[in-house]
Amino acid sequence: MSEPTAGETTAGAEDLAARYSRSMLGVFGAPQRVLVRGEGALVWDAQGREYLDLLGGIAVNALGHAHPSLVAAMTKQVESLAHVSNFFATPTQIELAETLLRLAEAPEGSGVFFTNSGTESNEAAFKLARRTERPRILALENAFHGRTMGALALTHKEAYRAPFEPLPGGVEFVPPNDTDALARALAPGDVGALFLEPIQGEAGVVPLDAEYLRAARELTAQHGTLLILDEVQTGIARTGHWFAHQGVDGVVPDVMTLAKGLGGGFPIGAVIAYGPRARALLQPGQHGTTFGGNPLGAAVALSVLGTIAEDDLLGNARRTGQHLADRILDLAATDPRVLGIRGEGLLRGIALADPVAPQVVSAALEAGFIINAANPCTLRLAPPLIITSDQLDAFVDALPGLLDAASAPADTEPAPTEKRS
Ligand SMILES: *Cc1c(COP(=O)(O)O)cnc(C)c1O
Repeated sequence: MSEPTAGETTAGAEDLAARYSRSMLGVFGAPQRVLVRGEGALVWDAQGREYLDLLGGIAVNALGHAHPSLVAAMTKQVESLAHVSNFFATPTQIELAETLLRLAEAPEGSGVFFTNSGTESNEAAFKLARRTERPRILALENAFHGRTMGALALTHKEAYRAPFEPLPGGVEFVPPNDTDALARALAPGDVGALFLEPIQGEAGVVPLDAEYLRAARELTAQHGTLLILDEVQTGIARTGHWFAHQGVDGVVPDVMTLAKGLGGGFPIGAVIAYGPRARALLQPGQHGTTFGGNPLGAAVALSVLGTIAEDDLLGNARRTGQHLADRILDLAATDPRVLGIRGEGLLRGIALADPVAPQVVSAALEAGFIINAANPCTLRLAPPLIITSDQLDAFVDALPGLLDAASAPADTEPAPTEKRS
């Protein structure tokens, strides 16, 4: 007997929300909606309402929802071999490692370690940095590298860190885009690694200057410090390059960490150690994982990478991302509530004049758009790489009205002309 889809009624949705709050640890706050299915860039909630998903599960759903290639790859693999332990290899795992090394343009002697999430990728990179046997590690102010203890030690935000101290030691923070400060911090020659996000995603989609990235590469090379690029959010074609740093001439990392888009929704991450020196830092027995790199995850990731290449989603990310940027800049020229747009490709932060981003997110949801407030003045968009310019236009066309609704006094209908300062 087939059952109705869970909660496709108002009463059903309320029941699910109550069951959620009773059964889940309260770390995420109340969920905005209960979602029950998706297709392409659209998702539907438990009451049958449709949304354009412009967040893509925070840069995860690279192919959108229920993509036929992903469904086929996952189904085919699970019918034969979903998991073996890391006592064994599988052809899909080997092929994924080779594919990532090729896309990363990693030199001879490079190697891959598979994980299940972004924070785990950064944990592995942290352990690699420790193996340099140098006492200091640098990260940037406003950096976000994950929530497990090592990645949290690299994450700047005090509210995330303070409740869990003591964290692994030796990490210092330097200001972004300040080459002099970086040079001073590296000068003693005792820094094992510098962790950077090419675009600081959680900070509000704030790109590092190309000049700074180049200087960071040169200075770390000079001092024998590993340059570790966290491309968990920026990687896998998100910016219109396979990896964001490939858009900056002269910047090749020693280590790169990945996750989010790699599995298109299946939890898989990776660490790439570039060249023999970085690769040799972790020796047999020094790190491990049960699930990491299992054949199911590897098959799904291969289908994500294959589909991005075949369907030119790199080009689509560049074209539609530029289209969005142009439209937002046009709007900013006439609407003082919109200051501009940051980021690259389909990782974008729309800068607002007032700290109303959370209210805009709520108004957007009511209007059928899923976006996110990276901070009080920034709307973050990280839509599926299959998004069309028409779909992005629908959002930009709606944005002035969403800003009206966001600045209206609570509990009344939107007052289009009033602006709360
Ligand atoms: C999301 C993110 C992480 C953490 O990834 P999880 O899969 O949530 O552990 C780490 N670094 C960056 C840059 C991220 O955006």
